[in-house]
Amino acid sequence: MRFDIITIFPEFFNGIFSHGVVKRAIANGLVDVQTHDLRNFTHDKHRTVDDRPFGGGEGMVLKPEPLMEAVESMGLAAKRERDASREQVILLSAQGAKFTQSVARELAGLERLVLLCGRYEGVDERVNELACDRELSIGDYVLSGGELGAAVIVDATMRLLPGVLGNEASSTFESFGRADEEFAGDEDGSPRSTHGAGGLLDYPHYTRPAEFRGLAVPEVLAGGDHAAIRRWRRERALEKTLRNRPDLLEKAELSREDREILAWLKSAR
Ligand code: SAM
Repeated sequence: MRFDIITIFPEFFNGIFSHGVVKRAIANGLVDVQTHDLRNFTHDKHRTVDDRPFGGGEGMVLKPEPLMEAVESMGLAAKRERDASREQVILLSAQGAKFTQSVARELAGLERLVLLCGRYEGVDERVNELACDRELSIGDYVLSGGELGAAVIVDATMRLLPGVLGNEASSTFESFGRADEEFAGDEDGSPRSTHGAGGLLDYPHYTRPAEFRGLAVPEVLAGGDHAAIRRWRRERALEKTLRNRPDLLEKAELSREDREILAWLKSAR
């Protein structure tokens, strides 16, 4: 998969993709990430990329001409043909739809993503209309530029590509992961908590030492009873989701046992 990032700060990305999984994916040729300096698509002495907003008000707006030229230089299919070519141009914007794990899964099915990073008050809206397939926000807060958002999208999308993670299972069996159809339920009907978060947050993890600053690792995890470990993990995932992200429970794939655990957790609060 190829990612192209259009930005006025290409140096922002120096080093950001040079670690861990992302670095390995690039080194192994599974992904290619290119950054493009928006100022290379200007034609005036000052390499101007911004101008004052029509209608007045604070700040500056990124001009449409350099951005359109930059997108057009990528050699993409015309906007209406991009479904077939499996390419998308994405505008990073606080006004965008929220980037989630399920959007990342959708993007991981594409061949090429072009990410436009806004700055100042944002991007001339005509660029959005003419060139972009979607507008994405990485969260309900305002950043000073789209670069961090672009890096987040590249990272979250790329780790879902086949071959990028050492263990393919890791990207399914984690927070926001889909339930694993193959292991949807054990014979006793309980979900395989080590297989597929089914829309819940991940359960807590522990490693050695078994005791640290007076806190012991939960006994069940050292016991070797796999059914008990699965049940414990499922309970903790439900507890954590209830505590930190109760909104996720509305869409999570819950068994009857899950619902009973939740009822118990709520009554114990
Ligand atoms: N005036 C804009 C608004 O209120 O929605 C904010 C502009 S922001 C200061 C400058 C740029 O940062 C945006 O054009 C966008 O590219 C990026 N940006 C800001 N917040 C973002 C977010 N939550 N997700 C993705 N990009 C964001």
